[in-house]
Amino acid sequence: MQFDVVVIGGGAAGLFCAGVAGQLGLKVLVVDHAAKVAEKIRISGGGRCNFTNRDLDPRAPHKHFLGENPQFCRSALARYTAQDFTALVQKHGIPFHEKHKGQLFGDRSSEDFIRMLLAECDAGRVERWQPCRVEHVAAGAEGYQLATDRGAVSAKAVVIATGGLSIPQIGASDFGFRIARQFGLRVIPTRAALVPLTFDGERWAPFSQLAGLALPVRISTGARKEEMSFDEDLLFTHRGLSGPAVLQISSYWRETQPLRVNLAPTHDVDDTLIAAKSRSRKLIANELLGVVPSRLADAWVAQDAAWQRPVNEASDKSLHQLAERLSRWELVPTGTEGYRKAEVTAGGVDTRDLSSQTMEARQQPGLYFIGEVVDITGWLGGYNFQWAWASGYACAQALAASLHRQP
Ligand SMILES: Cc1cc2nc3c(=O)[nH]c(=O)nc-3n(C[C@H](O)[C@H](O)[C@H](O)COP(=O)(O)OP(=O)(O)OC[C@H]3O[C@@H](n4cnc5c(N)ncnc54)[C@H](O)[C@@H]3O)c2cc1C
Repeated sequence: MQFDVVVIGGGAAGLFCAGVAGQLGLKVLVVDHAAKVAEKIRISGGGRCNFTNRDLDPRAPHKHFLGENPQFCRSALARYTAQDFTALVQKHGIPFHEKHKGQLFGDRSSEDFIRMLLAECDAGRVERWQPCRVEHVAAGAEGYQLATDRGAVSAKAVVIATGGLSIPQIGASDFGFRIARQFGLRVIPTRAALVPLTFDGERWAPFSQLAGLALPVRISTGARKEEMSFDEDLLFTHRGLSGPAVLQISSYWRETQPLRVNLAPTHDVDDTLIAAKSRSRKLIANELLGVVPSRLADAWVAQDAAWQRPVNEASDKSLHQLAERLSRWELVPTGTEGYRKAEVTAGGVDTRDLSSQTMEARQQPGLYFIGEVVDITGWLGGYNFQWAWASGYACAQALAASLHRQP
């Protein structure tokens, strides 16, 4: 079997790249070891797929992307923008809406986006094999030879689009990193990102009763100069913290570092309590009701006997302490929920070993890496998909330019 390009991994980046390359006239095969392609699109955005973000500024990728060198994604993001992908979604008649902070979601179901990508692949006469295992990839003078459980395949170019390690239950594997190492590319150590954080069982016990409670917070981590903060919703869970605020900060959090959480970011809690002291005889927990949800107010005052009394009987010092604790709650996670629950994998194929224009390995012509397998990680909010589309597009354009030149 002979193809111009074999794309390994039929997820967001792989299917999109294959469709574009096929429509540019290349003979493309997509191979995926899972029975169903694009399972991550299916479960994305709570089943609605947050497919891109209007606020993405390709001139400033460091604002929404992490990695050793976020500038790497600048060229690809500038050449295939959120507007470009949105135009494709509109062309396919898929209804969508903006949720908040520029996040665009499908109105109906993620299936719409999978159907769209498969239709684009069909328009490019892309062949798909799945489930199909790739056992071996070798480079020779004539291109690449692949041993698969459906037989041998040769191709002029190979695109690795096997994603990261998160959610192994639906097909994630370390294949891309192994291939990178096989061909001498460096791999930045990986870690779970956009992931819930966990805390020591005993120390967390007083807060575990808050499981299910969500509230808007400001959350921060890092030393002063490098501090990262997010204003988003936080969710208490049985084992720790989750919700958009925590998922976002988890990408920046490093083991042993503390988090700082302002549980009442739009209130001056100190002023509120001191003012209440001069005019009220209510319990402190009741005075906190306008500031934080009542379950949190109750759990909070339960931490100190000095806070379980009428506000007029409390000392100024204890009220200051309570205000400080609510607006600057400092806590050190013991870890994360790991790849099982992570939305993405940080780290990956070292961008120093790839061309930012084409996604081709610098020292291995014909071998390309796109999407999450690369050391580029986006914020929550559609940024990871936009990287998948943009890197897939840059790669497809480069493949067409290079292979059409070849005899
Ligand atoms: C629960 C959840 C929700 C998410 N929601 C969003 C969202 O709303 N918006 C957003 O921007 N991002 C979201 N993400 C992140 C987003 O899904 C990924 O960043 C994106 O899918 C990465 O695209 P990819 O093509 O690089 O990898 P993937 O989409 O993961 O595709 C990789 C493909 O490679 C295949 N594969 C793996 N190993 C092999 C192998 N050895 N051989 C053959 N095939 C292999 C897999 O089966 C898979 O089909 C979410 C992630 C999760 C887990």
